[in-house]
Amino acid sequence: MGAAPEDFAARVTAWQAVHGRNTLPWQNTRDPYRVWLSEIMLQQTQVATVLDYFPRFLGRLPDVQTLAAAPADVVLELWSGLGYYSRARNLHACAQAVVERFGGVFPHSAALLETLPGIGRSTAAAIASFCFGERAAILDANVKRVLTRVLGYGADLARPAAERALWEIATDLLPRGDAAGLATAMPRYTQGLMDLGAVVCLAKKPNCLLCPVQDVCVAQREGRQSAYPVKTKTLKRSSASWWLLVARGPAGRVWLERRPATGIWAGLHCTPVFADHAALVAGLAAQTGGKGGAQVEPRELPAFLHVLTHRDLYLHPVLAEVAVPWPDTAEGRWAAPVDWAAIGLPAPVRKLLDGAL
Ligand code: SF4
Repeated sequence: MGAAPEDFAARVTAWQAVHGRNTLPWQNTRDPYRVWLSEIMLQQTQVATVLDYFPRFLGRLPDVQTLAAAPADVVLELWSGLGYYSRARNLHACAQAVVERFGGVFPHSAALLETLPGIGRSTAAAIASFCFGERAAILDANVKRVLTRVLGYGADLARPAAERALWEIATDLLPRGDAAGLATAMPRYTQGLMDLGAVVCLAKKPNCLLCPVQDVCVAQREGRQSAYPVKTKTLKRSSASWWLLVARGPAGRVWLERRPATGIWAGLHCTPVFADHAALVAGLAAQTGGKGGAQVEPRELPAFLHVLTHRDLYLHPVLAEVAVPWPDTAEGRWAAPVDWAAIGLPAPVRKLLDGAL
């Protein structure tokens, strides 16, 4: 990972002043009601759409007290068409909380703002930095893209520790100075990062030639812009039932086959696996080919659960006594109990063979 230059914040703020967006209706104000309303509307919604809704909403509900006192139907009606209606319900609840808990005045710190309904860490930081000049970092999806590319930050943001570390870096990069300086620099810097993410460092085709940090950007230097940010999807847990044929021949030998090279227990030896009981019985019949005449009826052993990282495996062993073993092959062989220890067996299969037989 690279290090951002010391003048990172200065570059972003200088660029924003000249090339950024400075005339949107929710800018050039330190009124937290307007800033908050615009931030919530802009989540998952295009600027062009918000340009239409924002003035209409303000026209009917011009301040936090009016919003708090409005019937829920009025709020939902003004929101109608913006989608994600939980935002509207949270907006209403947040206005009521501001009135009830803070006497109708938005708190001035990101930490307190974050305690209000519907205000996450990044939104709280945006309001605090725009309205009160607080040195608080935003880290929405656009800003994550900008920072991870500039830094070549390749840690997986699906991991909470990696995301926490990026918050720390984002905080470290913020402008520094006294309160008066931050009152000007913080809104400019915060807006600059938002603008970079929205109009320059685009997800698919970043306009690196127009970027104020292109000469220090790791992703641009390596031509690997699309590699950042790294975020794997959280895998959902799934479950499966496997039927294990424990075929036991003379001298306690058990038939073991090598698992395929990929997938669960790849390359290990294992009892044959079937999707259900009927398939197991058919598989056994195919193996014995009528030569297992002395074989008794297969017997189900107690089923048990084996927990893998992303899957619950319900294992159903079935014991079959085989009087006349079929020949060893390239894929499988009859293994005596003394050999099991030296064979690569999945742990639950080893337990099964050691305990159940
Ligand atoms: Fe994004 Fe390109 Fe700027 Fe790097 S140089 S931050 S990839 S726009």
